[in-house]
Amino acid sequence: MENGSKPLVFKPNDAVDAAASVNVRGILYKLLDNINKDDDRPTIPLGHGDPSPFPSFRTSTSAEDAVIDAVRSGHFNSYAPTVGLLPARRAIADYLSSDLSYQLSPDDVYLTVGCTQSIEIMITVLARPGANILLPKPGYPMYEARAAFSNLEVRHFDLLPEKGWEVDLDSVEALSDDNTVAMVIVSPGNPCGNIFTHQHLKKIAETARKLRIFVISDEVYGHLAFGSNPFVPMGEFGSIVPVVTLGSISKRWIVPGWRLGWIVTNDPNNILKESGIVQNIKSYLNITSDAATFMQGAVPQILEKTKGEFFSKIIDVIREAADICFERIKEIPCISCPRKPDGSMFVMVKLDVSVLEDIRDDWEFTLKLAKEESVVILPGFALGMKNWLRITFAVEPESLEEGFGRIKAFCQRHAKK
Ligand SMILES: *Cc1c(COP(=O)(O)O)cnc(C)c1O
Repeated sequence: MENGSKPLVFKPNDAVDAAASVNVRGILYKLLDNINKDDDRPTIPLGHGDPSPFPSFRTSTSAEDAVIDAVRSGHFNSYAPTVGLLPARRAIADYLSSDLSYQLSPDDVYLTVGCTQSIEIMITVLARPGANILLPKPGYPMYEARAAFSNLEVRHFDLLPEKGWEVDLDSVEALSDDNTVAMVIVSPGNPCGNIFTHQHLKKIAETARKLRIFVISDEVYGHLAFGSNPFVPMGEFGSIVPVVTLGSISKRWIVPGWRLGWIVTNDPNNILKESGIVQNIKSYLNITSDAATFMQGAVPQILEKTKGEFFSKIIDVIREAADICFERIKEIPCISCPRKPDGSMFVMVKLDVSVLEDIRDDWEFTLKLAKEESVVILPGFALGMKNWLRITFAVEPESLEEGFGRIKAFCQRHAKK
């Protein structure tokens, strides 16, 4: 080695690899690889939540027109301000305020490249040596993966299947300490399909206040509610505890490829502003990528012009699918569903391997199901729930019937004699 030169040393980050190895997309790719290429039946994708390819789930023409108009206007070809264009921030503030008992200001709204970037920003901003964050189990693994990249410690509280997947607030209290910065909730829920009631959200707010932490509420499935519990935004409790709401147009408008989301502070007492977190969010926005300017330009028209009929049609299709899903699960002895879904596009079902002959766990179940029946569902271990399965029911109802027919045949074939 020459004098003064330093050897090149690259030390891999094991936490990053560990997080990446249990990511949903990676696992679903492995299952798709396992499908038998000689099976001429169509593959039934019950693993991921993107129904946009199905005809029943085509987005509204007014949303498409809004994008076309924004592009054609020629007004949205420049870089946008890093917090987002003012008319877009105002439109989102108004859209969300219609569900709240107070009015949000455009200054409470920050535009992002989908809810994925909202998660990235919040986790990055909160990470500091020694800090920890409380995440739901089961939950949305993007939070764990982002936290691993930022060296933010994760602690899991349980969602309780026997209580309709409500938060185990005792475990939240037991886990939190002086270094806990926030807790995350997802309602309407991915992966459980539950929706927290007004009463339960209030209890979450009171618990968080007592623990002196704030709440990050992932409401990317906001308004995708079709069961007995209506959707209630956590921001309604912003005067009890500061709430940061994350959302996007990806799920309600079924356009995840359009990449337009938001971070919203529901904080009437200005606690987040005074603590410096709002400044942190703005600083991070200055050094990251922005949502495409024409999408920002299209947002006011998308939010204001999409007709109620579009939303009710989508809700009707998803409700029918959820009903089919719940009824068919009852006919299959090796799986059971603790609660009929009220919202989102997913349900968690428990797998009983003791009644199966040659299947040891959820991973083997999903691998063999893909190979023998060309049906893809997500094994629960990807969400920290061994011997559970997450099923997406947001597919064309005929495909769903076909998928459950194959799952039933598969379970009968592998049942203990
Ligand atoms: C899909 C999803 C996201 C990401 O949403 P995008 O807007 O597509 O980035 C975030 N959180 C949950 C719970 C999701 O299911």
